[in-house]
Amino acid sequence: MSIRELLRDNIRSLEPYSSARDDFSGTASVFLDANENWQDFVDFDNINRYPDPHSSAVKRAVSEVFGYDERMVSIGNGSDELIDIMYRLFCTPGRDSVLIMPPTYGEYKVLASINDVDVHTVVQNSDFSLNVEAIKKALDECSPKLMFICSPNNPTGVSVPFEVIRELTEYNRGITVVDEAYLDFSSNRSAVDLIAGNERVVVLRTLSKAWALAGGRIGISVTSPEIADLIYMVKYPYNVPLLSQAYAAAALSRADRVRKEVALTVAERERVKKLLEETEGVHTVFSSDANFLLVRMNKAHEVFLELRKRGIIVRDRSREVLCDSCLRITIGSREENDLLVSAVREVLGGV
Ligand code: PMP
Repeated sequence: MSIRELLRDNIRSLEPYSSARDDFSGTASVFLDANENWQDFVDFDNINRYPDPHSSAVKRAVSEVFGYDERMVSIGNGSDELIDIMYRLFCTPGRDSVLIMPPTYGEYKVLASINDVDVHTVVQNSDFSLNVEAIKKALDECSPKLMFICSPNNPTGVSVPFEVIRELTEYNRGITVVDEAYLDFSSNRSAVDLIAGNERVVVLRTLSKAWALAGGRIGISVTSPEIADLIYMVKYPYNVPLLSQAYAAAALSRADRVRKEVALTVAERERVKKLLEETEGVHTVFSSDANFLLVRMNKAHEVFLELRKRGIIVRDRSREVLCDSCLRITIGSREENDLLVSAVREVLGGV
């Protein structure tokens, strides 16, 4: 199916809002077109002005750093906004459905509920690989508008091999959203390479993880230029704040430092993995391609509560399918990780 056929009917005929900054984008000395205040009370350059609706400087920097064609890049208020935009572009409430493979990132399902869209699920295999045959069957039976593949996956840290992603995106007649929020921590090939041959592939990245900008809310989508234009049409006109755009450009200009830090985080992840594996009461520390570890241990919920009492907060994933007795632990600084490991050892010794 073409992108146009996959769109919601109302989006196909949408007359988009045109902001003041869309109507005029050249240079001028007097701006009286956007009902802004001419004064700046807090002394931050241009904070009295609306931000660039295109996030052009961020887009340019993203394209340079990651080697993308700029026409394929969109900047969202976090990748969460871009996930929501996928629903709003392609899923008619009360009629369409999506396919997810649990355990995976919870927002896919929550945003489906908010948008009144049905969710079909194909649970992963017990080693957290995808059940490809069952997914194909679900695609045949349910014809979902969107399929979400999270790689490396949250909360497992497991990557989906590139060839499996290729096979599934080719099989899926709807849109495949490949969420690569944690790809910076792995050496896997990005699904961006599939877009040229398949316009129904949407890849999401974020500056919230490796780029240490979670507070800035900078999400990135890489799509065909046609989908990028559609995203621009439905997003809020000024979706990325001025300060966030400035911080994103600054972070992207420090790519060398970020890459070095990513390598250190990866090494630290492996160190913590080993320490936890040597801990009595820990059953499995799953191999991770991300900046966290999923750890199966005795009495995970009690351990979670005890850690919380000591001021150490991890994520209890015990109630997620296939994740019984599992905590998800983010890799922090070396000191934080050492505190975590000794606390886990103490608590597991006592519970
Ligand atoms: N995708 C995945 C897999 C995530 O884990 C998260 C955040 N936890 C997001 C997307 C959202 O990230 P952002 O901060 O860019 O909205």
